[in-house]
Amino acid sequence: MDKKTKKLIKKRVKINDQLEEIFHGRCVDCNVDTFHIGESYMVHDSVWKKAGMKKSGGKLCVGCIEKRLGRKLNCRDFFMIGLNIQAYMFPFAASKRLRKRLHDYESW
Ligand SMILES: [Zn+2]
Repeated sequence: MDKKTKKLIKKRVKINDQLEEIFHGRCVDCNVDTFHIGESYMVHDSVWKKAGMKKSGGKLCVGCIEKRLGRKLNCRDFFMIGLNIQAYMFPFAASKRLRKRLHDYESW
């Protein structure tokens, strides 16, 4: 294998690792695979900070972030980005409790 190919493979692996980090990842509190249970979401920085999390400090499942915040999440906590919109729109894309929070307009 030549140098160029090796370099390209290395780069590809790095990108895959980064994607893996974005979509997969275990909850730092209870160790559940957040992607597997359909709880890949993004909340506003202020909410994340209030939960004691740093920007790239890992993931939290819905149950654990709510425990840290001492309250339930509601739709105002979430960014309206693709990841959350997908979870909002499609039942198969998110856990029941995440969808419930995304659709929760009543606790505004
Ligand atoms: Zn958890």
